[in-house]
Amino acid sequence: MSTHANSVKRFVAYFSMEIALENAMPSYSGGLGVLAGDTIRAAADLRLPMVAVSLLYRRGYFSQHLSEDGSQTEEPVVWKVEDFLKEEAARVTVPLENRRVELRCWRFDVKGVRGFEVPVYFLDADLPSNAEWDRNLTGGLYGGDSYYRLCQEVLLGVGGVRMLRALGYEDLTRYHMNEGHAALLSLELLGEEAVKAGRTAINGEDIEKVRAKCMFTTHTPVPAGHDRFPIEYLTRVFPQQSKFFDLKDAAVAELVKRSLQTEQNYPDLQEAAAKGAHLNMTYLALSLSTYVNGVAKQHGVTSRQMFPEVPIEAITNGVHAGTWTSPPFQQLFDRQIAQWREDNYSLRSALGLPPEEVWSAHLIAKHELLEAVREKTGLSLDEEVFTIGFARRATGYKRADLILSDLDRLRQIAKNAGHFQIIYAGKAHPNDGGGKDIIRRIFHAKKALRKAVPVVFLDEYNLDLGGKITSGVDLWLNTPQFPLEASGTSGMKSALNGVPSLSILDGWWVEGHIEGVTGWSIGEPRRSIDTADIATDNSKEAESLYWKLENIILPMFYKEPRLYIQIMQHAIAINGSFFNTQRMVQQYITDAYLR
Ligand SMILES: *Cc1c(COP(=O)(O)O)cnc(C)c1O
Repeated sequence: MSTHANSVKRFVAYFSMEIALENAMPSYSGGLGVLAGDTIRAAADLRLPMVAVSLLYRRGYFSQHLSEDGSQTEEPVVWKVEDFLKEEAARVTVPLENRRVELRCWRFDVKGVRGFEVPVYFLDADLPSNAEWDRNLTGGLYGGDSYYRLCQEVLLGVGGVRMLRALGYEDLTRYHMNEGHAALLSLELLGEEAVKAGRTAINGEDIEKVRAKCMFTTHTPVPAGHDRFPIEYLTRVFPQQSKFFDLKDAAVAELVKRSLQTEQNYPDLQEAAAKGAHLNMTYLALSLSTYVNGVAKQHGVTSRQMFPEVPIEAITNGVHAGTWTSPPFQQLFDRQIAQWREDNYSLRSALGLPPEEVWSAHLIAKHELLEAVREKTGLSLDEEVFTIGFARRATGYKRADLILSDLDRLRQIAKNAGHFQIIYAGKAHPNDGGGKDIIRRIFHAKKALRKAVPVVFLDEYNLDLGGKITSGVDLWLNTPQFPLEASGTSGMKSALNGVPSLSILDGWWVEGHIEGVTGWSIGEPRRSIDTADIATDNSKEAESLYWKLENIILPMFYKEPRLYIQIMQHAIAINGSFFNTQRMVQQYITDAYLR
């Protein structure tokens, strides 16, 4: 049987505003896109009949420049779409305001370990038939204002469903919205049901039918992080809305009420707009999904507190093992753990690997990273020195500079317990002034610490560099402010490469942490997430970090290397075997898709 993309019946459509597939394809900004890419890779490995939809960004998510003092400036990445993607002949139009925007799409086939392919379609509005403003809607990721963003979401949701129809996918029965950006696909599905029944307005039956097909994964642990648009935008984008939403129908009125997050009954959306109501994409997705999940057990708890009206499950994120395992560990696993690519669970036997082989694979990965540091910065870091890694989006709650809060203390620890160095990377979102400040503070600390504790900051964090840093350091540091790290995935990449984590007990680490076995915690586990308990004491957490580094981790690394290697093997066996997208997609299949 041919497994070519178009010749297989597809049941699951996966929608994501960003998908990271290749290093040179700047189609993502960070964790959400990396997760989407890893999800699709695992789906291909598992021969899951899925298709995926995203938007094309001709001005790719940016190239980062850092000045002497760590000030970041950005430039869009120009890339040749044709070099990576194949244009499809299909065209669809999407109604927008009083116009019709024409869309085409470009295909990328993700090939799994057994040769099965999952096609990914990138929608593109840059066609001569469209007005200049419309052509630019697939120009940049998270660029522009809130209205521009809503129009992008219309293209993704409405345009995406129409494109799948035009491409001939007639067997789709599951629509998976990866975060609220994709929620408008549900309106298109509702419209289809109404048309099928010969109506222009939707009703309760349509809502039930659509709800049975939709799944929603939320990634955002704070109310402010959820996409919201003034209703006035919606009525502007979608002038036919009054024919579509008949608020005299009780089920439709209830849907609108929930999506607007209000107790009020509006006679129509015009009135809601006049009263300043907002459409909350998360509430829309929650209202129209039969299955909803958070991305780690802790995040499930947080999400249920935020949205008590609906049942919310949890499926903990993962990473794609074949992608994030460094070449030396791939070779070691290929030799010693048969079938680990097809069966990630078999990584549990990493506990029985010869420790010296684990160590030599690690040293090769570390050497590769330090070579990359030299190429990028001209600095030669010492390969014998304990190396801490921290790479992720530079933004306030991730607190990249927590370890730098007391520089004297760091100098003291290096003197007492052994030398160490820190490798940083990460981009701040162009509009995130706080994130940019953090990068400058790291540069400042780097100058102050000089040789006492060498610090480097690598620019241009991307998939390749992410792979090198997560595998090449001796310890992965994660210091988010609880409970704001929904999951986090970079520590999972490290675990696959035998790199233990030292982390706040938030996101996936609540599940992955076994003290002194898979790594170490910063601070104590929280017994509840009541508001009183949420208050974070930065200096107390920094103290916990310093204490473990000085009294446990550095002494073990330098004086008891055998014990340290044992922890590395536990990281692979206990966490690498579990926190991967193969296990995660299997859970989506049983809990969501086959529901
Ligand atoms: C893995 C990865 C992320 C996500 O890391 P988190 O730990 O979830 O913050 C972001 N960007 C890149 C380039 C990555 O490789």
